[in-house]
Amino acid sequence: MLDVAIRGGTVVDGLGGSSVLTDVGIKDGRIAALGRPLGRARGSIDAGGCIVAPGFIDIHTHSDFTLPVRPAAEAKLRQGVTTDVTGNCGFSPFPLGADDAARLHGDFFEPGLVERWAGLASYADALTELNPGINVAPLVGLGAVRLAVMGEESGPAGPGQRGRMRKHVERAMDDGAFGVSSGLVYPPGCYADLEELADLAAPAGAAGGIYATHLRNEASFLEDALEEALAVGRRADCPVHVSHHKAVGRSNHGCVQRTLGLIDEANRDGQDVTLDAYPYTAGSSTLMSVVPARYQAGGVEALRRRLAAPDLRTEIAKATRTEATFDLEQIVLASVPSRPELAARPLAEAAADDGTTPEELALRLIEVDGAAVVSLAFGMAEEDVRAVLAHPHCSVGSDGWVMSADAEPHPHPRNLSYTARLLGRYVRDERVLSLTEAIRKLSALPADRLRLQERGRIVAGAVADLVVLDLEQLRDHASYTAPCRYPGGIEWVLLAGRIAVEAGELTGVRAGRVLVRAGSGAASR
Ligand SMILES: [Zn+2]
Repeated sequence: MLDVAIRGGTVVDGLGGSSVLTDVGIKDGRIAALGRPLGRARGSIDAGGCIVAPGFIDIHTHSDFTLPVRPAAEAKLRQGVTTDVTGNCGFSPFPLGADDAARLHGDFFEPGLVERWAGLASYADALTELNPGINVAPLVGLGAVRLAVMGEESGPAGPGQRGRMRKHVERAMDDGAFGVSSGLVYPPGCYADLEELADLAAPAGAAGGIYATHLRNEASFLEDALEEALAVGRRADCPVHVSHHKAVGRSNHGCVQRTLGLIDEANRDGQDVTLDAYPYTAGSSTLMSVVPARYQAGGVEALRRRLAAPDLRTEIAKATRTEATFDLEQIVLASVPSRPELAARPLAEAAADDGTTPEELALRLIEVDGAAVVSLAFGMAEEDVRAVLAHPHCSVGSDGWVMSADAEPHPHPRNLSYTARLLGRYVRDERVLSLTEAIRKLSALPADRLRLQERGRIVAGAVADLVVLDLEQLRDHASYTAPCRYPGGIEWVLLAGRIAVEAGELTGVRAGRVLVRAGSGAASR
């Protein structure tokens, strides 16, 4: 007898083929049968009028910082997400070095997370203890690795330091990591040169992992930055994955046509290159990222000391205005711990109220709150977003993190609604993508990138991570002005056959696991 039967739905298998009206039978956590009629089952889900899809795999998240604080992962389950890929943009809450700064690295994702871990194994043990609501597929952040070995030093790594960084990467790969990531705009990861990056991506590649990268530049030097990433991959013999691909700033709009061409060319030449994107024209990050990295060398304290010198402050303000990736007029403050009333206010408006310039207000806020000031930045062209989303090698992720709708003052709506935005707006309403192709980008495509061959697809024998959704009702209620809303239309979510969302509500079942890379030798948890 089956454990669960999902009856009457239209099955989209995640592999990009056509959709089929059929039933899905689940036994022992796996898809045991597909077809009609299925035999008897202990439980039954009426999916009439709904789409049955593989549980969504969010290929780009920072949830490793927030899951230990919010393990139920409500915001992800309510979007139909069953697996978050973590450790992106050079950030991960491990490895922990001797330097105290490592305890603050990435704290803007979750100021409540005070703990950091020696390595992936102890992090995964701690998270497993908490019964996470979703699965986690971890990368290790090269920013965190550099911080563990070199602290906030900004110079090139010496041979001994490189050797120790490599050891950290090798250990994380042995512990089941899916690869490494770099965040080449964030200190101290941005101080790594091509050689260092290749040296650290090599053990990831040798173990069957990927090199995911937040490029060094996403504006006027986007092509150079992509060339660097491709060179790292070639030198390291490691597959390259370009994170949240975009071109920022009006004068760079359209540039993604050239970068997508370069990615195609690299693949034609035999290199393995993929990418991801989120379905929005605004990004979000710590406001610190508007300050050129050279002024951040040595960390927040060092930046504060520089700002205390009047001449240097003027210089930093000027550089912030002229060099910031995002136009300061396009920045909206999302979260300012010391001045919560500024949430949702455009930086330029708030600056005018304070009788100062946007760059000076940004520096004042950073002086007080450091990296914890989070902002939204509207810098992309809608046409570019569509072109990137439609690229066949582009998975769709959120670049968000597990949060609660009531806990964040003014989050980016992608945290609560990216799947509904893709499937509601870009598939149903505007037909930028077909439904089967969009679901492939949310499931099998990211799964294959991580060699998760048992997930992200509806085939006999696969793990029964599934979502049942009502496409007509699917709405991204979260907007830039009112972001704290869950989407409608996500009806049922199952992890390994266990029902986590039932008729749109959480059941309290928390069946997530920390996944390990196939062939890593690490014991599955
Ligand atoms: Zn990033």
